[in-house]
Amino acid sequence: MSLVVMKFGGSSLSTLEKMKHVANIIINRKEQKNKIIAVVSAPGDKTDELVTMIKSLTEKPSRREVDVLLTTGEMISIALLTMTLCNLGEKAISMTGYQAGIVSDSNYTHAKIKKINVDKINEYLEKDNIIIVAGFQGVDINGNLTTLGRGGSDLTAVALAASLCSNYCEIYSDVDGVYTTDPRLVKKARKIDFLSYDTMIEMSETGAQVLQLRSIEVAKKYNVSIYAKSTFNENSGTLITNVKELRRKKMEEPFISGITFDKSQVKFSLFGLPNISGIIAKILVTLARGNIIIDLISQFINSNNENNIVFTVNKNDMLKTKQELKILMKELQIKTMLVNDKIVKISIIGLGIKSDPNIIARIFSMMYEKDIDFEMISTSDIRVSFIVNEINMQRAVESLHNEFKLSKIYNKTI
Ligand code: ADP
Ligand code: ASP
Ligand code: MG
Repeated sequence: MSLVVMKFGGSSLSTLEKMKHVANIIINRKEQKNKIIAVVSAPGDKTDELVTMIKSLTEKPSRREVDVLLTTGEMISIALLTMTLCNLGEKAISMTGYQAGIVSDSNYTHAKIKKINVDKINEYLEKDNIIIVAGFQGVDINGNLTTLGRGGSDLTAVALAASLCSNYCEIYSDVDGVYTTDPRLVKKARKIDFLSYDTMIEMSETGAQVLQLRSIEVAKKYNVSIYAKSTFNENSGTLITNVKELRRKKMEEPFISGITFDKSQVKFSLFGLPNISGIIAKILVTLARGNIIIDLISQFINSNNENNIVFTVNKNDMLKTKQELKILMKELQIKTMLVNDKIVKISIIGLGIKSDPNIIARIFSMMYEKDIDFEMISTSDIRVSFIVNEINMQRAVESLHNEFKLSKIYNKTI
């Protein structure tokens, strides 16, 4: 008998009817002579609803209490799904993160898993139970409830697979795998059959919400292959695995894998700074002290010998960044501060993208032809990113998708 760790997201659990459907998928998998652990997220948009409640109550909630509240969403799912399975005649038991032995640090809302004590899980597995585990949650060494960052049930599933020495994990959602871009935005998006960890890491990091970034990082570290597939159809999914495994299957990733977009950033422009040494460093050190992470950044001196700096941060840090910069504006005699949250970061992901100069040339020639303004370009070995105004997002993503013929490349099996 082999162990299969499965994970079902909120969209697969939004109604009792869908829960019953999920229960049948689990039973089917068990009947194929597998031991089953199913990790579940909160039903539907429950976590978003809880976050909205907190926001309407207070601007500065205790992060500990935020986590106490957010863990309740997944509790609803484990209880209801376990009851559904039992109703269908199965032997099933629910486990919270704590009961499943998931120990994290105390960084509420973004806790990291430190270890998983799998004894209890093994005990229940040996007694032939289907185990339903609450995703996204853990407990610190003092017994405080923690959550693992949004989308964290993916991480729970991969971490459990790794801790139980399984090199495979199935993640079910409302799409039948990872697509060349978000199929909700671009109708011509195509499913990708195989992806390396590194490419998936870049896709998740730059906005492909279908799999949580940290879950892929852990999968890579522990060599757990992830099979992303749909809860609602039998289509084949996407296998995310190591390059050796991809080669074994005689398959290589094509050059461009996908296009992602990230609406979570806000752009700050500081113009007219005196051109004195250390001034930019002072701004960056102040932001770093406030734990504000900068993503894209550019700096230039204008013809009046003034220094100018433009950078992006996460929208969650917008107020904090404004406050820090307002203090600095007086001190450093900064003339103008502009804040623009109507921007989107678009990324093109592909192995070896940087080694072919034609790719970057094609991207920006196309943007020029389509009359789409862009700025703040950044590159890595396998990614090119830049900022556009949000009104141009769909046109930019669709045009890039066409330019690199992604719907043709991925229409055939590689
Ligand atoms: P779950 O609730 O199961 O965790 P998510 O909502 O987190 O599911 O992720 C699935 C969603 O991710 C899809 O509905 C899709 O719109 C979105 N998505 C964004 N980028 C991609 C992509 N490249 N491929 C597939 N889905 C994507
Ligand atoms: N329910 C949590 C969230 O919405 C965790 C998850 O869905 O994976 O972020
Ligand atoms: Mg998710």
